[in-house]
Amino acid sequence: MPIRAILTDIEGTTSAVSFVFEVLFPYAFENLPQFVIEHAQEPAVAAQLDAVRAESGEAGADLIRGIEILLQWIVEDRKATPLKALQGMVWQQGYEAGLLKGHVYPDAVEALRRWHEEGYALYVYSSGSVQAQQLLFGCSVAGDLRSLFDGYFDTTSGPKREARSYLNIADAIGVPGDEILFLSDVVEELDAAQQAGMQTIGLAREGGRLVGHDTVASFAVIDLGRF
Ligand SMILES: [Mg+2]
Repeated sequence: MPIRAILTDIEGTTSAVSFVFEVLFPYAFENLPQFVIEHAQEPAVAAQLDAVRAESGEAGADLIRGIEILLQWIVEDRKATPLKALQGMVWQQGYEAGLLKGHVYPDAVEALRRWHEEGYALYVYSSGSVQAQQLLFGCSVAGDLRSLFDGYFDTTSGPKREARSYLNIADAIGVPGDEILFLSDVVEELDAAQQAGMQTIGLAREGGRLVGHDTVASFAVIDLGRF
């Protein structure tokens, strides 16, 4: 079956894993306290601070204690909803101020542009929120790439290592699974996409193989004509 749509992972696939751990998370850790203090009166931030008090069981936590709890959650890598929401706000401010630029490998930028021009529909599936995905591609090192994409999926479509999620995404795209190519650096994600009937190519940017899947080190050598 010829490929009509391409679904790509971000971390380790279009973008360096190190961007998340060496740039995004440290940026949020450093800037979150000041951001929360400056915006504590705004309803969107106040609501997240209330959620921090509820989730921590510290109903009486003041602003400074609330910030301490948030920083502790970052250190513990806790996936708390109010923390994720506030980190998203801090990143948005950083991207919009030009202090953060989303990392995308040059070979990925070139291939995504070419595939878009050739008429392939392009989609993103990442564990980062749709908002975070749009910020990364909207304020990227290669400029605003959002016009290349037809849609974005996050874990509200389901976990990345479950076939059901890929069936949901194929449904949402409206293209049969075998006409969708999924790109990822994680073998369990590729396995799940394959179980859902999608075509797969693994990205191993440091070399190596993703067992059971065609593996490449760069988008530059992906040949869509062979499907
Ligand atoms: Mg990945």
